Amino acid sequence: MLPYGRQSISEDDISAVVEILRGDWLTTGPAVAALESEISRLSGGHRAVTATSGTAALHMAYAAAGIGPGDEVVATPMTFIATTAAASMLGARVRFADVEEDTGLIDPSAVAAQLSDRTKVIAAVDYAGHPADYDALQSLADSVGALTLDDAAHSIGGSYRGRPVGDLADMTTFSFFPTKNLTTGEGGAFVAKDPVLAQRAHEFHYIGLVRDPDRFRITTEGPWHQEVHEFGLNYRLPDIASALGLSQLQRLEAFKRRRAEITARYNAALSDVDGVRIPTQRDDVDPVWHLYPLRVEGGRRREVFDKMRAAGIGVQVNYMPVYWHPVYTEQGYKRGMCPNAESFYAEELSLPIFPGLSDAQVDDVIDTLLTAMR
Ligand SMILES: *Cc1c(COP(=O)(O)O)cnc(C)c1O
Repeated sequence: MLPYGRQSISEDDISAVVEILRGDWLTTGPAVAALESEISRLSGGHRAVTATSGTAALHMAYAAAGIGPGDEVVATPMTFIATTAAASMLGARVRFADVEEDTGLIDPSAVAAQLSDRTKVIAAVDYAGHPADYDALQSLADSVGALTLDDAAHSIGGSYRGRPVGDLADMTTFSFFPTKNLTTGEGGAFVAKDPVLAQRAHEFHYIGLVRDPDRFRITTEGPWHQEVHEFGLNYRLPDIASALGLSQLQRLEAFKRRRAEITARYNAALSDVDGVRIPTQRDDVDPVWHLYPLRVEGGRRREVFDKMRAAGIGVQVNYMPVYWHPVYTEQGYKRGMCPNAESFYAEELSLPIFPGLSDAQVDDVIDTLLTAMR
């Protein structure tokens, strides 16, 4: 089965990991610091903290923002549940704001309708690698004293109005899962514009340990001393994984270019085909196409999905609206809340896209799709 996404690993990647295995540090050594400084450089210079996954980075974001019972998070439903799971686990109420009909991105006018004096975070996702409208989202957040969060699991390397992903929201999270734009096996990162938030996220991902003597509340101990003021977890990314990430980052531009070529090839072949709609791209955005989210109209998505899978093409569907998950419906969230997200989901079919996909394979996907549509 041709997968819808997969990692691209070079001999240089393999050597980089092997070199770490022969060295002194397996975890929290120089490769972690180097990866964090590279991610920071890509993200407008803001501090980056690596994590064991994108989900962990999202947990760090909500913990750093101090989210808890009584708080509200306004979020897109067109995403993987990790975008909101940690906010819910911390006791906040998630209010889902509907998406734009064409892009599937959180709609600022729908966000405006969900704001209250309890709103602490507005969480957007750069669905398929296309950044959301952060200028609009930031002014909404500023109007109620909330923070913006960019779940950029799909969009590292992209930009919006000339600013890179990582510099678009108050907080940004990345995922380095194998299907994403670059990988560390499992892994992720958190970026914040406010150094106080970055430090809180750092401590949260490091068991809550405080190591700065100026901040010690216990001053009777010796040089070994470290202390905890707030609980944290161990979400540290190892050096082994960081070395892979550093090596992968050198090819991020090439990955992005190949993803754009594949997208252009699909667009050219499918833009005039009846019954399908190609993805929308806004003029002020430079996306990094993580997914190719085709829309299959006329209630035929399931039929086309089944035919393509039967023909060996590993198409996928991204995503079922988050509030359809039983964990949310059991809390009273109802279908029908976000009609654009629901109709987007009903039509969406992700075609294979990853750097190692050849033009011949893309053409094969197109032929199989056209046959399935016939
Ligand atoms: C993959 C993904 C995550 C979670 O990342 P992991 O590294 O798999 O934990 C979160 N949000 C979105 C939109 C994702 O695609």
